[in-house]
Amino acid sequence: MENVFLSTESLTKQYRGHAANNCVTVSIPRGKITGFIGKNGSGKTTLIRMLTGLAFPTSGKIEFCDADARKHIGAIVEAPAFFGGMSAKDNVVYQAKQCGVDPSDALSVLDVVGLDKNNRKKVRNYSLGMRQRLGIANALLCDPEFLILDEPTNGLDPQGMIEMRDLLHRLSREKNITILVSSHLLGELERIADYYILIDDGIIMECIGAEDLEKRLSERITVTFLGNPSDAADNAAKCVAAGGCASYDISGNKCVLYGPFNYRITAGYLGGFDVESFRTEDGNLENYFVSQVGEK
Ligand code: ADP
Repeated sequence: MENVFLSTESLTKQYRGHAANNCVTVSIPRGKITGFIGKNGSGKTTLIRMLTGLAFPTSGKIEFCDADARKHIGAIVEAPAFFGGMSAKDNVVYQAKQCGVDPSDALSVLDVVGLDKNNRKKVRNYSLGMRQRLGIANALLCDPEFLILDEPTNGLDPQGMIEMRDLLHRLSREKNITILVSSHLLGELERIADYYILIDDGIIMECIGAEDLEKRLSERITVTFLGNPSDAADNAAKCVAAGGCASYDISGNKCVLYGPFNYRITAGYLGGFDVESFRTEDGNLENYFVSQVGEK
């Protein structure tokens, strides 16, 4: 990867003998949105807490692109805290004073996240989506180069999710902010991420760019066969050579054929497997994730 904001090397965090992160080596591309995907309890928050300095690694290291970069991180790790009895504007002004930002310059962050600075409504009466956006506004006060969001769409209604997605897109494209966003809502990330990091049980399963993932997510047919794997591989290779499918993988007694397909040709080769069963799958991130880490 050419332009890296930060990298980790063999980062491990042990909690009472259990590795919440186990030898995590990843790079976060600068100016892009990285989707950090994993089931609940897989170690996303642990890594995020180490990146933000809220937790210390048991071993391993984090390297930023330059010495100053660590100072320019905005993060929402737990639910952001506000003064519920105050308006969004008063909350932001208070927060600005805490961070040494001129309050008169601070209100622009409300425009960025699409909250009305003249709305006197108390934050305790805000929807979850509005609170999340106010949390991001607070995080933007220090003019971050890197924004880390732990499950920002958790609990949002569909409209709130759309707004969050648009906001993250804008922050990335217009302000060139590097964003790391964790989620178990895979469909959400599929629409915004440029790069993906998959984690399961503290171990990084895969790091992959959106374009490469898209290629891999093309439709697929999984054949479970009874015969021997070298015959299956032979048959799959012939199917590829004949233009029936783009590629294949064999693992154990399963052969995955990847699209795009010419189904007429592929159908001719399915008989060449000693088929026990087969199924077709749509290429989406959820299916891909399940194929990498097993059922949720
Ligand atoms: P995620 O954010 O993906 O849901 P976490 O990073 O919160 O996962 O948790 C990963 C694992 O580490 C879980 O098994 C969790 O119980 C454990 N864990 C996280 N924080 C602590 C802690 N402070 N003390 C003990 N165990 C923890």
